[in-house]
Amino acid sequence: MDKLQKVGYTNFMKKYFQENKELFHSLSNSQKPETMIITCSDSRINPSMLLDAKPGELFITRNIGNVVPSYQPTKGSTQAAIEYAVNILNIKKIVILGHSNCGACAHMYHEPQANDPKLPHVDEWLQNIIPAKSAAMLEVHADQSKNIFELTEKHNIITSLQRLMEYPYIQNRLINDMISLEGWWLDIASEEIENYDFSSRHFIAI
Ligand SMILES: [Zn+2]
Repeated sequence: MDKLQKVGYTNFMKKYFQENKELFHSLSNSQKPETMIITCSDSRINPSMLLDAKPGELFITRNIGNVVPSYQPTKGSTQAAIEYAVNILNIKKIVILGHSNCGACAHMYHEPQANDPKLPHVDEWLQNIIPAKSAAMLEVHADQSKNIFELTEKHNIITSLQRLMEYPYIQNRLINDMISLEGWWLDIASEEIENYDFSSRHFIAI
């Protein structure tokens, strides 16, 4: 074990585990989280810390770029996590948590290395962000003072929300008011969150 693991795990067992022993015991057989977070693999994002959430409260799935792929035709771990969260755990809310300076969104503006493809899987996965890139480029075309990276991050959140609405079992729950969807953009430096407002179609500080 490296130092981080050894010291970190020892501290966790001494403090957090001791203080929450009963909670861990109560969670040993099942989980009943009400909120699902879909966020980026980025090491700077820690949803449980950000929301002061205890184990058992958040069902979290992470991928490069906090992407929700279309319901069809591809299938993968993100779709499987959403399916399980909604159809088995009966999650009440899904939050897409995107963030500032997202490497996945910035990667969309790098020149592709056709002769030396170091990131074939990343490149393929990030095809999911192309609609967000196009929407951002359109906005910057109209107003060049806008930050294309931030716009791509935010449009990527909106695209993911739209795609969630394509999932038939989510459509059913939305119609029956059994689930809510939210899109958050986190500023890494200030830890301030902007929430996507569906009526004004703007991100508004929480
Ligand atoms: Zn990211």
